[in-house]
Amino acid sequence: MLSSASSTDDLLKQGIAAARSGRKAEAREKLLLVVELDEQNEQAWLWLSGVVESDHDRRVCLENVLTLNPTSAVAQKGLRWLDEHAPASQREHCPHCHAELPATGNVCPACHQPVLISCPQCHEHVEIAIRHCPQCGTTLGDYHNHNPYYLNLAGAYLDRNNFPLGSWALEQVITAQPEADELLRCGALYLRLDRAARAVDMYRQAIERDPRQATAYLQLGALYRQLGQPEEMREVYQSGLRHLPGDPALLLAWGQGLSEIGGADHEAIDVLQRALKHEPRLVEAHLLLGQLHSRREDSMPALAHYRQVLIMAEPDAASVIEARRAIAALQPTQVDGWGEFTRHLLGFMLCPICAALANAQLSPLKISWAAWLLLGLSLIASLTWISSADMPRNPLTVKLFGPDEALRLHVSFWNGIGKFLWAFAFVALVIRM
Ligand SMILES: [Zn+2]
Ligand SMILES: [Zn+2]
Repeated sequence: MLSSASSTDDLLKQGIAAARSGRKAEAREKLLLVVELDEQNEQAWLWLSGVVESDHDRRVCLENVLTLNPTSAVAQKGLRWLDEHAPASQREHCPHCHAELPATGNVCPACHQPVLISCPQCHEHVEIAIRHCPQCGTTLGDYHNHNPYYLNLAGAYLDRNNFPLGSWALEQVITAQPEADELLRCGALYLRLDRAARAVDMYRQAIERDPRQATAYLQLGALYRQLGQPEEMREVYQSGLRHLPGDPALLLAWGQGLSEIGGADHEAIDVLQRALKHEPRLVEAHLLLGQLHSRREDSMPALAHYRQVLIMAEPDAASVIEARRAIAALQPTQVDGWGEFTRHLLGFMLCPICAALANAQLSPLKISWAAWLLLGLSLIASLTWISSADMPRNPLTVKLFGPDEALRLHVSFWNGIGKFLWAFAFVALVIRM
């Protein structure tokens, strides 16, 4: 052991002497022997870092020094120097195809893929392999996920009104055979670039790629609506329904589109009713049907659809507010509520009164107290019957419960109770008196 230690010491001295007098090859040979014998030798690693041939080896030596002595200022300084000079050498190969890159240019001349991109936030050029901009920290993403990466970039450029680069990023997606949903995102981004024709093209390609995806038809249809091209809109929804028969979302959108065209109300009502056949709880369809019917001054079906909105939607939804406003606007044209109420009530009371009178030899004074009780019962039964059938127009219950609370009585349970009591009172009057 002693001889080995002394020979290591000698070798180190010889190596340092050779390095000092510029004999690098000899110094390297001696010092490598030293670290082979004693890999914990900080001095040997430090001197070796000065005589090795590549920056990579130099980095290994200096890192070893730092491992043995974390406070070594010489090693720290040396590594910093290497760091500052390293990126230039790393950038020499394309991350996509590994071809050697020239000193300038943003695109690889071999595979024509971008190797540098402009940071959307600070405009600094950043290597494509770097996920976060070193200047401003903006997340740039992973370029291996080609299409999501460029879609994200395109969105970020457009958010900052950088239209040429936004358009460039979109072209990167389109040349890489995007999926249907990626094409849809391209379409939406092209709309932000004010390039509607290109957006139409994207949506049509998305439909071709996946004809059973409703979103593509919905977006293309909405775009034609915006562009004021009703024939194209109709064609899109019809072809969508051929692939997705009875799709309520497509039918609803088509109905909405038709309702915006003059003179297509009848067709719109037809389409919306088809939507309700497949999805009866489609609040938007009920609301629009209410509007279409009241536009045609057809207030009965209009009211029926508005009432469906009140029943189905959340109480504070915008559609409920709209429906309530529309119902209030339609009500004044309705028949006189109290008059109708009285007429209905008299109609219901006619039979029991006749029966009671017949049993009392047509003299009201001879009507027995039991018959009076039964007449009272049939009055209550008639009130319940009317209130549960003609509710929204019944001013008595509207007064008592308010227009919405009143709906609570408008159920078959109360209707049944009313009918049953009325029949009971009438039969009792006829048989017993
Ligand atoms: Zn390349
Ligand atoms: Zn940046």
